[in-house]
Amino acid sequence: MKVITILGATGSIGVNTLEIIRDNPADFEVYALTAHRNIELLYQQCLKFSPRYAVVADESLANKLSNDLKALDCQTIVLYGKEGLISVASADKVDMVMAAIVGIAGLAPTFAAVNKGKTILLANKEALVTAGEIFMRAAKQSNAMILPVDSEHNAIFQCLPDQDKHYDQLAISRIILTASGGPFREKSLGELKDITPDEACAHPNWQMGRKISVDSSTMMNKALEVIEAYWLFQVPVEKIEVLIHPQSIVHSMVEYHDGSFIAQMGSPDMKTPIGYAMYYPQRHKINVPKLDFTAKPLSFNALDGQRFALIPLVYDMLKRQDYAATIVLNAVNEVLVEAFLAEKIQYLEIIEYIERVLQELKLNKPETIDDVIAIDLKARRHVSVLLNTDKD
Ligand code: NAD
Ligand code: MG
Repeated sequence: MKVITILGATGSIGVNTLEIIRDNPADFEVYALTAHRNIELLYQQCLKFSPRYAVVADESLANKLSNDLKALDCQTIVLYGKEGLISVASADKVDMVMAAIVGIAGLAPTFAAVNKGKTILLANKEALVTAGEIFMRAAKQSNAMILPVDSEHNAIFQCLPDQDKHYDQLAISRIILTASGGPFREKSLGELKDITPDEACAHPNWQMGRKISVDSSTMMNKALEVIEAYWLFQVPVEKIEVLIHPQSIVHSMVEYHDGSFIAQMGSPDMKTPIGYAMYYPQRHKINVPKLDFTAKPLSFNALDGQRFALIPLVYDMLKRQDYAATIVLNAVNEVLVEAFLAEKIQYLEIIEYIERVLQELKLNKPETIDDVIAIDLKARRHVSVLLNTDKD
């Protein structure tokens, strides 16, 4: 039986993880469940899974949840804030941590789990995007195993040689990241002016949280995933290729020098990569819709780098090893997506402001996690000032 903490239990990945545990109660003990503000769902989850700990954003939410649970004789202890997250991610008793908080908020608890040598089921790509070098070095030192949950990286992991699951230049010629192209793949930039948050969140293939759904529509998600693959598999950026594949059936591929391509395929359902990581190195039955190869043809297209300008931008950052820029990119995008979802800026302004801040803000490479957080804050402030000035 594996003891697991789920960071971000109330999100799309968290809920899918708990469904797998519900279907396999003998295989997992839930140590802790965390949420930010959705204490109604966290309350239901605590009653169902009886974790030893629950963690929420602040003290008043913690008091409310704790009183509600006590009223029903539930013994779960409720903690709060960053310290609460770090303590349940790094506790001695925990074997594995599902890192499924969205955004850089997931970095500190995930990093704490890495330092303790836990098995990390990594959905929170932002941790690698912002702190890849520091994160991977720490994992090596502590012997923490990083199992990618992001479907493309999970696919690549499955297609890489078994020995070390890393890029090997003697055997591998390319890593091919597939991208659905999101809901606006067929639209020109001119047609995107009046896109609403609900339109941007309506992904054709995947059911996901709102932030990553907007990122998929701008292809920021794929830009972040190029950085994620770069760190995770220690692969030179010129060996990573993005290929448009609108059906999201081939989740990614590895090309070997002998002409073989190994691809991982499946229905677009996050339970497959989540279950793979939860049971690694075994394979276990996971309840997902069966893939029907006769239902629709599979197609592939080259990426249009002019239309999706964020991708060439990220290749350039990685070639220059400008790792401060990757933090700025992530931070500014988080602020802008939140502003767009709150209908404070227009859809196309997300990309416009990202390009503007990247021009204006040049910072030094981070050496520590504190440096990463400082760069992140600086970038957030910078874009917030621009927004306040422009929108006054
Ligand atoms: P979501 O918005 O559905 O859920 C996010 C979770 O994080 C919630 O439990 C929320 O309470 C918690 N949270 C949000 N802000 C927080 C904060 N400041 N502090 C602490 N907790 C906070 O997101 P999601 O779609 O489940 O995505 C989670 C992560 O997984 C993201 O990094 C995303 O990029 C990655 N991911 C998701 C999918 C998917 O299919 N949903 C696929 C690949 C990767
Ligand atoms: Mg993905």
